[in-house]
Amino acid sequence: MSKDYEVLLYYKYVPIENAEEFAAQELAFCKSIGLKGRILIADEGINGTVSGPKSVTKKYMDHMHSMDKFSDLWFKINEADDFAHKKMFVRYRPEIVSLKLEEDLDPNQITGNHLSPAEFREAMKDEDTVIIDTRNDYEYELGHFEGAINPDIKAFRDLPQWLQENKDKFMDKKVLVYCTGGVRCEKLSGYMVREGMGKEIGQLYGGIENYGQDEATRGDMWEGKMYVFDERISVDINHVDPSIVGRDWFDGTPCERYVNCGNPECNRQILCSEENQEKYLGGCSHECRVHPRNRYIEAKGWSQAEVAERLAAIGESLPESAATN
Ligand SMILES: [Zn+2]
Repeated sequence: MSKDYEVLLYYKYVPIENAEEFAAQELAFCKSIGLKGRILIADEGINGTVSGPKSVTKKYMDHMHSMDKFSDLWFKINEADDFAHKKMFVRYRPEIVSLKLEEDLDPNQITGNHLSPAEFREAMKDEDTVIIDTRNDYEYELGHFEGAINPDIKAFRDLPQWLQENKDKFMDKKVLVYCTGGVRCEKLSGYMVREGMGKEIGQLYGGIENYGQDEATRGDMWEGKMYVFDERISVDINHVDPSIVGRDWFDGTPCERYVNCGNPECNRQILCSEENQEKYLGGCSHECRVHPRNRYIEAKGWSQAEVAERLAAIGESLPESAATN
């Protein structure tokens, strides 16, 4: 059944004059048509994910396509039941994806080979190839390509250093990189080409998003789901033989439910069932469970005695200082 809303994912590296002013204009336009989402605009281009009723997303796409610079802008479209965002943000930034290379580069000048989903799948099957997931650790944990390396980074800007430290693993091999919609790989693969990392660098054009929708691949060889930075949290990619790779933080059983640790100073994203979240008082560790500002306990409204009882059930107790309060 067809749905009433759409989520759009898009980017383009193209010089934008007066980008800061352009960002302000775009914000006004997006608000005026009732679009929601997050758009980053820099002197080097645009990167966005927005959502709305189909009549609204159409207006937005027509608006972008009416500008010469964006007449060929490629929107990856996903149907949805509702808005995937709460608000509309358009921000002017130094980069459309924050990589912060010491020496910046233009992906229109230097970048890895753009591979279609079918080409990327073929390339993944090559024994001499190393596949590197360029996303963050929590994105990898929910789903990834079979056999892909997890650099286990917390933020994208940490990746160049990881690559430098691990280049022995792929220096004399063919390398494939991929990300959600393709934008992160543009500069990153350019950096790898510049640094001579790998015999050949290929990037998945249109990202995992496009790979899942592509008629030829339909998400084949993708394991688990794909993490997305909006209200949906995750989306299906593999329509051939779907599987679950996410594991419950507490008991290791298959799980795809994301929550944030209750300790506001930790805020770690973990996968866990509703049951285990309650059992472990919403905290990823003992320290987080007994943190005085644990939001999960606050929301539940548990008394000190109830907290003590629940901790006892998992073999833990309140620290001395808190217990004597
Ligand atoms: Zn925590």
